[in-house]
Amino acid sequence: MKRGLILVQGDCIKTATRCFCRLFTPSKSPPPAGETCFSCLTNSRPVCGRLRRETYVPSKDGWGAANKALLRKISLMRLSWLLVVTALLVVTMHPAAAQQPALHVVATTSIIADVAQQVGGDLVTVEALIPPNSDVHAFQPTPADVVKVAQADVMLVNGAGLEAFLGGLVENVAGVVPVVVSNGVNMLPFGDHEHDEAETAEEDEHLGLLGDAGVCDDSGPQTAAPTGDAHAHGSCDPHVWTDPANVMVWADNIAAAFAAADPDHATLYEDNAAAYRAELETLDADVRDILAAVPQDRRVLVTNHEFMSYFAHSYGFEVVGVVIPGGSTLAEPTPQDLAALIETIRAESVPAVFIETSSSSALADVVAQESGIAVITSLYSGSLSDTDGPASTYLDYLRYNAQTIADALGG
Ligand SMILES: [Zn+2]
Repeated sequence: MKRGLILVQGDCIKTATRCFCRLFTPSKSPPPAGETCFSCLTNSRPVCGRLRRETYVPSKDGWGAANKALLRKISLMRLSWLLVVTALLVVTMHPAAAQQPALHVVATTSIIADVAQQVGGDLVTVEALIPPNSDVHAFQPTPADVVKVAQADVMLVNGAGLEAFLGGLVENVAGVVPVVVSNGVNMLPFGDHEHDEAETAEEDEHLGLLGDAGVCDDSGPQTAAPTGDAHAHGSCDPHVWTDPANVMVWADNIAAAFAAADPDHATLYEDNAAAYRAELETLDADVRDILAAVPQDRRVLVTNHEFMSYFAHSYGFEVVGVVIPGGSTLAEPTPQDLAALIETIRAESVPAVFIETSSSSALADVVAQESGIAVITSLYSGSLSDTDGPASTYLDYLRYNAQTIADALGG
């Protein structure tokens, strides 16, 4: 017979108002009725028990060892509860430091989500539907995504047909009206890499504004009706974020959407958007500096799918060809398409072909091998990287892509 500290284990019973234990001991004696429990946690494995000093008989089935392990676990739980209580005290003492989020925001892409977080700051929680480092075009929403959208105060989408899945998703959620963050952006057409050399007026390459003008409308619910313009319906390139000037438009649209949903903090959202626009100005200047290393005659891009047109337009590059036609990653090129691309690469002395991390490089490898040029497989296109990757914010995303291009094409 020994006397020592014993943990009395019990069933963890949780009701709507309280949590208690029905205790039992490792011995065969019946549990004393009405004992209060030490702890009853429901996170992963409910554990409860009570420590008391008494005489006990170690059993043959290793109860002693199991009891020690449980004791360790419970002392850790005590510590974590202590930390929780301490954190709550700190929060109570400094209410300004822990403002309750006013809005729960769901964005389609991780890039939009990052910009939304910059504009919303502590006042919003933001969730992206499409995981980081994944292909936006191939995304298929799950029932859990429908729930996320249903619970959102504000839903942010890129628009211009980028989110092909959106129509079906929104149909399943009553009352949700997605905010198109690209409204007001000057849209570029797809497939503009075979234009006449004489065509120099940049303005002529714009299709118009997404939104009220409606020229880039698709069948989704996110934009105004098409106007009957010759370019209407899906001919606009939705990858507007590769030019930070367009992300400035996003920031303003997001601030306006947040202000509409939470008017009490309208000024704060506007101020945050203004501060972020200043960061985008700096980013733009940095990118120009980085790209200064690329000589004029090497400012030609061939990408896996067409997602760098806005970048090219803004920074003096030309997208002379793409491996996958049609503006998304879902099409397949014909052998004739690939032969024509190899021809273009030779004719334009293209130094490298760029693939996004979220796509297979198999086709580009064939093209590069035939053309005798390098394949750079590390650009990010429609998604940010994971948090420990090189492009976990939009600012890092664009700097990283610019540096990757400068490293590959620099003289
Ligand atoms: Zn894309």
